[in-house]
Amino acid sequence: MGNLTFGIVKPDAVRAGHTGNIIQRINEAGFKLRAMKTLHMSQRGAEGFYAVHRERPFFAGLTEFMSSAPCVVMVLEKEGAVKAWRDLMGATDPAKADEGTLRKDFGGSLGENAVHGSDSDENAAIEIAYFFSQLELV
Ligand code: ATP
Ligand code: MG
Repeated sequence: MGNLTFGIVKPDAVRAGHTGNIIQRINEAGFKLRAMKTLHMSQRGAEGFYAVHRERPFFAGLTEFMSSAPCVVMVLEKEGAVKAWRDLMGATDPAKADEGTLRKDFGGSLGENAVHGSDSDENAAIEIAYFFSQLELV
């Protein structure tokens, strides 16, 4: 069980001005923010990030959305970080997310659900390396 995970405040939440509130909730939940930056992904960049979903019917919409506006990418540290961050995010569909989760409070729809989190330690390492250089992680 690793101590690092990768998260994104997605374009819908950044656009709506929720970034500050989401970072506050991350702090209150006991995570350390090890790295963070704002960036505007190209469509190709989003396609690379979500490559595991490339055969899914929602892939084009998902990558178009993720490249539609700036997002905030983060490296989060906590014991059992992958599960802890997914617990704080809540279910993929905000309509099914538990009370007190970020997707319940800030997500608008299945496609525009405010935040991303890695689903395994292995993918966390891959996703961190996709967005952050070694220098940014020291
Ligand atoms: P994420 O990877 O963004 O943290 P997740 O792990 O909860 O979300 P995934 O199954 O990895 O969910 O799906 C990636 C993203 O694709 C979801 O966050 C959601 O925005 C979108 N998505 C998933 N399923 C659908 C669907 N049936 N229709 C539209 N969009 C979907
Ligand atoms: Mg996922």
